[in-house]
Amino acid sequence: MSQINLFEQVNRNFDKAAAYLSYDKGVLKQIKICNSVYHMTFPVKRDDGAVITVEAWRAEHSHHKLPVKGGIRYSPTVDENDVMAFAALMTYKCAIVNVPFGGAKGGVRIDRNQFTKSELERVTRRYTYELIRKGFIGPGVDVPAPDYGTGPQEMSWIMDTYNMVNHNQLEAIACVTGKPISQGGVRGRVEATGRGVFFGLRTACENSGDMKRLGMKQGLGGKRAVVQGLGNVGYHAAKFLQAGGAVIVGLSEMEGAIHNPKGLDVEAVMKHRKETKSILNFPGAANLPSPAMVLELDCEILVPAALESQITESNVDRVKAKIVGEGANGPTTSGASESLWKRGVLLVPDTFLNAGGVTVSYFEWLKNISHVRFGRLGKRFDEAAHMKILKAIEGLTGKALDDEVCREIVRGGDEEALVNSGLEDTMMSAYNEIREIQAKYNDEMDLRTASFIDAIQKVAVAYEELGIFP
Ligand code: NAD
Repeated sequence: MSQINLFEQVNRNFDKAAAYLSYDKGVLKQIKICNSVYHMTFPVKRDDGAVITVEAWRAEHSHHKLPVKGGIRYSPTVDENDVMAFAALMTYKCAIVNVPFGGAKGGVRIDRNQFTKSELERVTRRYTYELIRKGFIGPGVDVPAPDYGTGPQEMSWIMDTYNMVNHNQLEAIACVTGKPISQGGVRGRVEATGRGVFFGLRTACENSGDMKRLGMKQGLGGKRAVVQGLGNVGYHAAKFLQAGGAVIVGLSEMEGAIHNPKGLDVEAVMKHRKETKSILNFPGAANLPSPAMVLELDCEILVPAALESQITESNVDRVKAKIVGEGANGPTTSGASESLWKRGVLLVPDTFLNAGGVTVSYFEWLKNISHVRFGRLGKRFDEAAHMKILKAIEGLTGKALDDEVCREIVRGGDEEALVNSGLEDTMMSAYNEIREIQAKYNDEMDLRTASFIDAIQKVAVAYEELGIFP
């Protein structure tokens, strides 16, 4: 249970943006409210025979587009307010990156570290069965995905449970995304959110106006970055930021935080954590007195990628980063966002920055309903066409390229290449879209407010076109 009311936080951001728009109050209310919430409790047998009661939720925030989409979180603190808030964020996120879904979110209140694999399987299958019973899952209605505390294994169990009940449904495997490749998943989904964080921050760092205002040179290269949380989002974001030229000077996990102004090798830190069960005492790095102090390190880019409400009114004044990239959902409270904005910090909001996951989930869903792998039809055809062009150029110039360069040039798009390029294009276009909205209002609002304006306008158009509003 968060001490901060997250849904209220999301709605505060919504109201700030709505004030710039002239929609009828009823329209705004309809966009803002959560359409349906299913709260359930169910029994699960532990391995030792004890029976426990598990509390869980699925919130469908907006039915303006179907299916609705959003991750499932396993956390000992998740509550109904949290899932409604995250479901609302999903609605706005999908609109911002032009993914044709409404928003949803699931939560199961358990600490996964206290459960064995077989217990987790029973929890997941029972939760899925409850969703099926109430029509809260299905390829055309509600399509879950991984979130905090869940991954491909849980998605696989969900898909299998749904399949067992709906064995004659052609599109059954599209009932959930983030599945292993062998179960209908798409290449690039596991790392998609972190890769999207990288594409989004790279685009921000390439924006000449933004960099000039921050007094920094253009480009990601050489910028010092700090990442909180080394789970799915944080680990991949850190890895891609490092590969893109940023210097990772600080990393944190639940057990602690480390700092090295000369740079940390992300893979080496992961290996060290695997071997020693802790991020601490990494060779060449200093341990920080507490994990939260990672947020206060001297750096250009700070990426909170663990949990919500990490940058609050109580620590925001100590945040030194010039750019805060919200890898997690809701890591900065609305009060803290305002104070960052007043100090001239560029906050790249969650509504945009962590949308890589849902974007690639959309690609996975498309793959599942079309029953064909991306690139299967065109790859070889494209390669043959490229080869003809290359040979013609070689013939005209009388020069021949070596085999490796030739292979690289003619290469047709396989699934991974197409997914990553679709994600890159989505993140770059969406950044420029919200940046243009900000510019339209003479940069008098932060990027989060601009992103909400973008989302509200798109959802309102969808409702209007449905004829729901007079
Ligand atoms: P995850 O469970 O894979 O990883 C989260 C990590 O954060 C864990 O390793 C955990 O130990 C660590 N952590 C928890 N508290 C911490 C703290 N106080 N300090 C440092 N580390 C801490 O979860 P994830 O999927 O990476 O999700 C992280 C955030 O990103 C969540 O807010 C989630 O909603 C959001 N998100 C995830 C996805 C996705 O595709 N997985 C997509 C969009 C947004």
